[in-house]
Amino acid sequence: MIERGTLYIVSTPIGNMADITLRALDTLKAVNLIVCEDTRRTRGLLTHYQISKPLLSYNDVNKEARTPGLLSKLSTGQSLALVSDAGTPAISDPGFYLVRQAIRQGINVVPIPGPSAILAALVVSGLPTDRFLFVGFLSRKSGRRRTQIRSFAAERGTIIFYETALRLPKVAPVLAEILGPGREVVLARELTKKFEQVVRTDLENLPEILKGVPLKGEFVVLVSGNTQ
Ligand code: SAM
Repeated sequence: MIERGTLYIVSTPIGNMADITLRALDTLKAVNLIVCEDTRRTRGLLTHYQISKPLLSYNDVNKEARTPGLLSKLSTGQSLALVSDAGTPAISDPGFYLVRQAIRQGINVVPIPGPSAILAALVVSGLPTDRFLFVGFLSRKSGRRRTQIRSFAAERGTIIFYETALRLPKVAPVLAEILGPGREVVLARELTKKFEQVVRTDLENLPEILKGVPLKGEFVVLVSGNTQ
């Protein structure tokens, strides 16, 4: 069912525990080791699905130290699953470095696709889906954030980014100032969870709208592209 010496990139739920594929569960059961972001978080998922498997944490701080050992396991025929706390690994989450190094060593890397907040938000946004630009998290520093926003001002496709709830009120007026007040904006909050909410407005009205949105939980922000 699984291949030897293979690194599986396994997507896990972004909230609703039922959002995991049969193939993801089979893979997590079959591999020798699960490499994860936070062992406690992944242990919760495994317990829910009654899977017992060794876990090893892998993150930005320990990735360089841990990668050689993982590559050596893979090259001796062990199979590993890489998961993150939620969604698809390596998308604003640890994993890219491991994937890159594994490919360099000729190791087989296989995706087990599933949830990702980007696509879940895009498909319910009502904004064009034929072309989009994902820019990860906006910078925490206001100067860098402005430069970043300017860098995608001309993009014609839908722009998607992750943002923390508390920074949204600060970011909203800057988006309007740089991109123009008329752009459509969609906030996709707590997708697949109890307080799931999708708010559709424009950049001019966003600061006012934010006063009525609970600034709690996880948000994906989508802005319509430049149509001029
Ligand atoms: N790798 C993940 C993925 O594929 O969705 C994203 C990881 S990133 C560290 C976490 C960010 O994704 C959150 O800060 C939030 O912006 C977004 N996010 C994750 N789960 C979400 C959800 N259920 N609803 C809305 N946004 C979510």
